[in-house]
Amino acid sequence: MKRTGRPLCTRAAMYLPILAVLSCLLSAKAWAQEDSPAGQAPEQTPYTAPLDGRVRGQVQPELIEAGTVIDGKGNVLHNTRILLEKGRIVSVGPTVSAPRDAVVYDLSHATVLPGLIDVHVHITYNFGVTGRYDDTRETPEQRDLIYERSLWEMLMGGFTTVQSVGAPEDATLRDFVERGWIPGPRILTAYEPIFGSPQVGSDDVLRAKTILLQYEHADLVKIFASQSIRDGAGETLTLDQLQAICGEARKLGMRTLVHAYRGSVRNATLAGCTEVEHGTYATQDDLNLMAEKGTYFDPQVGLVIQNYLSHIPQFNGAGNLNAQGFEYMRRALSVNEKLFQDAIHTPGLKVVMGTDAVAGAHGRQVEEIIARIGLGQSPMDALISATSLNAESLRMSNEIGSIAPGQQADIIAVDGDPLTDPATLRNIAFVMKGGVVYKDMISAAAATH
Ligand SMILES: [Zn+2]
Repeated sequence: MKRTGRPLCTRAAMYLPILAVLSCLLSAKAWAQEDSPAGQAPEQTPYTAPLDGRVRGQVQPELIEAGTVIDGKGNVLHNTRILLEKGRIVSVGPTVSAPRDAVVYDLSHATVLPGLIDVHVHITYNFGVTGRYDDTRETPEQRDLIYERSLWEMLMGGFTTVQSVGAPEDATLRDFVERGWIPGPRILTAYEPIFGSPQVGSDDVLRAKTILLQYEHADLVKIFASQSIRDGAGETLTLDQLQAICGEARKLGMRTLVHAYRGSVRNATLAGCTEVEHGTYATQDDLNLMAEKGTYFDPQVGLVIQNYLSHIPQFNGAGNLNAQGFEYMRRALSVNEKLFQDAIHTPGLKVVMGTDAVAGAHGRQVEEIIARIGLGQSPMDALISATSLNAESLRMSNEIGSIAPGQQADIIAVDGDPLTDPATLRNIAFVMKGGVVYKDMISAAAATH
């Protein structure tokens, strides 16, 4: 067996993340242009040069020697080995043996977890090069590279899958990440949300919009059933209208995520929608109803509003991001904390982990997990939420969300123990996605001793 070394891009990435991304991208794109006819995905032939660890991660077996494993389903294992082949986990256990040519990652002093999942992000919400949220002079090239930077930041922050809810640009980013052309978490996207408004049209129009989203290759349907919290959070879709959209989506086999406050929480639940987002001003009865109906609930307490309020000069003046909007958000903070605590104490309610990360928050999504633990959720429950429960909500339990045979090799590690010190999640030291290592501050450091 060989001890680990780092792929070129990973090594550079530790010190110069943006430069490394760009150099990896340039090489990958040059390769793509040479070999693929316009508009077609190339064959998945391996790179001839070790661009990003892809060759090794997908051709050679890999073995992780893990000091502690938190498996994403509530179990803790010690001194365990994880064997990976072709980007998937093959076996997990103390006596697992590896083929002679396996690449070994020594994480025997670290805590290993499944790659984290965020069920609510906005990849395309960013500060421009001027630092402003509404940077009107941003060029398309700047915008595209900033999207790629956001993906890189999320991956480096331990997130190997994100659900973006959503913008049409997400679809290109999703496909490029999937092909290995740019580094980033695997992406699911709502493509374009359906917004409630007085001009929304008949139920037939709403059903047609839902069908159109499937045609446009959306992975899910995002619905705004309430105004923004910054505009007062009033209802914008009726129960009947939600039934039209969520009913149509169900027929198509698509999931529905509903941005909902106040009475919209109850309506979305009664309409059989898959997941309620935010939920501010929901009642205990609403929480009980979601539990009864099996509706996933994604409240936020740790990142999105705090991030808006800590970047006021950069957001101020963009749409409803004004003095009144910031005041509405400030008032929601304590309401959301109480709602979250009520939610985790509601028997049977499936509380998933989505951060609603916008500009300034990409890559810092663990703050939501840490805040939830600070409000009384057990660290294990918070981690289950961000891994296997989130995977279940995405209907991807067979692929991601736990460390078990058959799963994608999406594996991260931290130096400490997040069960006793959740803040250690701020220092993700190892990131592997699909068997490819993108960051390794642990085993590489040990190899130089
Ligand atoms: Zn959002």
